[in-house]
Amino acid sequence: MDHKAELPPHVLIFPFPAQGHVNAMLKLAELLCLGGLHVTFLITPGIHRRLLLHANVQSRFETYTGFRFESLPEELPGGNPHSADRLMQLYYALNIAAKPFLRRFLVSSRLGDDSRRRPVTCIIADGILSLALEIAQDVGTPIIFFRTISACAFWSYFCIPELIKAGELPLNGDDMDALVANVRGMEGFLRRRDLPSFCRIADLGGHDFQMVLNETQQTPRAQGLILNTFEDLEAPILSQIRTACPKLYTIGPLHSHLKARLREKRKLQSTSSNSLLQEDRSCLRWLDEQPPKSVIYVSFGSIAIMTPDQRMEFWHGLVNSGKRFLWVIRPDSVPGKDGEQHGSTELEKGTKERGYMVGWAPQEEVLAHPAIGGFLTHSGWNSTLESIVEGVPMICWPYFADQQINSRFVGEVWKLGEDMKDTCDRVTVEKMVNELMDVKKDHFTKSADEMANLAAKSLSEGGSSYSNLDRLIQDITLMVVAS
Ligand code: UDP
Repeated sequence: MDHKAELPPHVLIFPFPAQGHVNAMLKLAELLCLGGLHVTFLITPGIHRRLLLHANVQSRFETYTGFRFESLPEELPGGNPHSADRLMQLYYALNIAAKPFLRRFLVSSRLGDDSRRRPVTCIIADGILSLALEIAQDVGTPIIFFRTISACAFWSYFCIPELIKAGELPLNGDDMDALVANVRGMEGFLRRRDLPSFCRIADLGGHDFQMVLNETQQTPRAQGLILNTFEDLEAPILSQIRTACPKLYTIGPLHSHLKARLREKRKLQSTSSNSLLQEDRSCLRWLDEQPPKSVIYVSFGSIAIMTPDQRMEFWHGLVNSGKRFLWVIRPDSVPGKDGEQHGSTELEKGTKERGYMVGWAPQEEVLAHPAIGGFLTHSGWNSTLESIVEGVPMICWPYFADQQINSRFVGEVWKLGEDMKDTCDRVTVEKMVNELMDVKKDHFTKSADEMANLAAKSLSEGGSSYSNLDRLIQDITLMVVAS
């Protein structure tokens, strides 16, 4: 008898190589390791280097003997993307480079002579990498997709063919506040401006639009779909998704799920950082000196960029609000400007008195800090979940892709803050910061606390995300590779 059959199942996790995707999928990798599975995490050499340099992956994963990183053979153009354009460039390059590598890897894992690991028994691929589906089906390895966006965003992508059929796409005319009728479950509140940013085009034949459309339509072909969300947050939309993808595993919020399971196993460790940039921890010391719930945290994630004018509007709005603020400005987030752009004496003075700026922050720890009272965010899905878990109300300034729809749900459906979409003039910024931190503070804090409690409930033993992760591990254990 083959002794390898006695070994744990072996999962190959293949994320799209960008911060938000790698972050969520590495948390899943650690959860699967805790569940006793063996995991290979496939990544570009550049992302691997950055993780080793800036995150605590080495010390965390050396405790799991069944875990290993595997690097794709070469660096890709557009690697470590900082803007939407470079993201697309990376996507196309990855499609060319990863296909032959993945096929070779799966075949040689079967022939391999590593007596401590089974051949790959299941692939968990990023839901925008359907290249993995083709190869998995060719070689007979079961595959599950993990889409790292919200359920509401996924469902709106999935309904794009309906929108085209009904004549709602391409968008006609300038009325961006007109309601959209053909995303089932979102009638009555979804406006044109809330559709994924890819929909704001006149020509539906464009590569990028077609890519998003086609990738999403492949999802039901996999054995299952994992979403980083929880039932109480997105129940009505999840039931829509189940009509197309019945094998759905909602196991989020993953970062918090991981913490809960580590506690359960009495594995004490500091935050599981998956940062690709150097965290400036001095902001935590600054926060220690601020009163409770007095600081608005401002960060637009790893990809969003802004013009120099937009930066100045935010800066004026924040200083004019009179509130304390912690602002993450990545060095590459304001293209076209070399060096620091200085503000007026008044701006500099207001910032010195009440503000703190860093290039990259330990965000999970920042949002958990008692001094934080609000989050001005780009509505990336990881950031949104991190805010929800900590009960921190949000002001949303979405940049692209799923962020437009996430921010609509935050403002209109979950009532967890305000949607500032499509504008950032200083008067609006000042007004919204004051509303969030002052005028409507109690109102937003109450709904944010309630949602944080529901998130925690989903992660406790018997809760939906907790049970769904167990079910996922069980289903992976039962998977059989075709011979
Ligand atoms: N993040 C961080 N430090 C920062 C800004 C962001 O650690 O200063 C992390 C954040 O906690 C989140 C991720 O980067 O987990 C960003 O992912 P998200 O989906 O919010 O946005 P994206 O970067 O993909 O646009």
